[in-house]
Amino acid sequence: MSIYTSLDAVSEYVLNCTKCGNCQAVCPIFKEMLYEVAVARGKNSLVEVLLDGKAELTEGMAERFSLCTTCMACVANCPNAVPSDKIVLAARAEAVRRRGLHPIKKVIFRTLKLQRLFDFGMKVGSKFQGVALKRIEGKHYGARMRFNIGLGKEKVFPNLAAKPFRSQYPTVIKVDKPKMRVAFFTGCMINYFYTDMGKAVVDVLKVNDVEVVIPPDQGCCGIPASVNGDVPSAKALAKRNLKAFEEMGADAVIVSCSSGGTAWKHVYSELLEDEPEYKKLADKWAAKAYDINEFLVKVVPFKKEGLGRVERKVTYHDPCHLNRGQKINKEPREILKSIPGIELVEMKDPGRCCGMAGSFSIVHPDLSEKIGSKKIADIAGTKTDTVATACPACRLQLHSGVVNAGLDHEVVHVMQLLAESYAKGSMAAAAK
Ligand code: SF4
Ligand code: SF4
Repeated sequence: MSIYTSLDAVSEYVLNCTKCGNCQAVCPIFKEMLYEVAVARGKNSLVEVLLDGKAELTEGMAERFSLCTTCMACVANCPNAVPSDKIVLAARAEAVRRRGLHPIKKVIFRTLKLQRLFDFGMKVGSKFQGVALKRIEGKHYGARMRFNIGLGKEKVFPNLAAKPFRSQYPTVIKVDKPKMRVAFFTGCMINYFYTDMGKAVVDVLKVNDVEVVIPPDQGCCGIPASVNGDVPSAKALAKRNLKAFEEMGADAVIVSCSSGGTAWKHVYSELLEDEPEYKKLADKWAAKAYDINEFLVKVVPFKKEGLGRVERKVTYHDPCHLNRGQKINKEPREILKSIPGIELVEMKDPGRCCGMAGSFSIVHPDLSEKIGSKKIADIAGTKTDTVATACPACRLQLHSGVVNAGLDHEVVHVMQLLAESYAKGSMAAAAK
């Protein structure tokens, strides 16, 4: 019994909540809304009455379960280690089982399962994006929606890439004397928007003598479906990725987005608990799944020789699902501190949720922006010129916030800075 298949799976977690209220102090939603059901304690109480059969799972209640970024700040601050994020995910899955999935979400997740159709849609979208999006003026890249369709009028989106990342590369990128062969899980954001991040990951792995395989049949990680309670779609997407990677074979799977990493390390195994063959496959790949920062610090230590100077003052934002979800926070900082020329300045609360949380920012754009504005104020306080992070979704949210606050920061993935340093090092060596 997993949290995705039965609400009963979280009954013990709910009982462990002593209603002490410690979660209030850290919940980004509660800080904005200041009402009880916005915080973990309130949601846990709702699940308790549902489990006791004392209430119906109404639309209003389902709406309250949507008020969570699954940032896990409450979990980290809970004296009883109650996994309130999992309680919320279980409640959302239960809501879909009892009430059905919203028709728009149904269409989106169905399209995500039809990879060719989704690919085609994104390619067409890249050609006609100017119809819906208006380029922003000034030094920053990106565009805002021309019409307010409820996605946040001021939100700055990256442009869709003219050519998806995965079609820019061969399936196998060979190197001389490879130390390892890894399979790169790109995720949708890198594939369709942030191809520069994907290129940086490949460049860095090549410099470090790692052969890279990009399984062509991979697709969406399934997290948008699983966090919205569409368990059948999430399962289908998980299975497709597992099959695609199993077919190619590799010593490790490398991920450079925090949701994708969570999917491979934790979610696939839980989702496929009742399908023994796939569960075995999910466990096998979970054991060799690495965030790129983790991989370069713990598995194939990144080369320090050949690093060129990158004159930047950088602050680092911890993505929630990397920091609290995978306990990876030292590794990106170690990489940044190793790059000559970079001065790392910590912001006030680097682990505070940026408010993006994938589809949360689409369902609750205003709330997402309010949460994000606190992060942007912390960034502004650092007097830096660059924000580094380790997740494309956080990059989108931070970039939008930076532009709207009138800041000059460039927002990048840690790998882009490392790739820049290697490129400068190689240029300097060639000039000698
Ligand atoms: S979730 Fe944890 S911190 Fe929050 S009220 Fe329950 S026991 Fe306390
Ligand atoms: S996971 Fe984050 S947003 Fe959700 S209840 Fe906990 S602290 Fe609040």
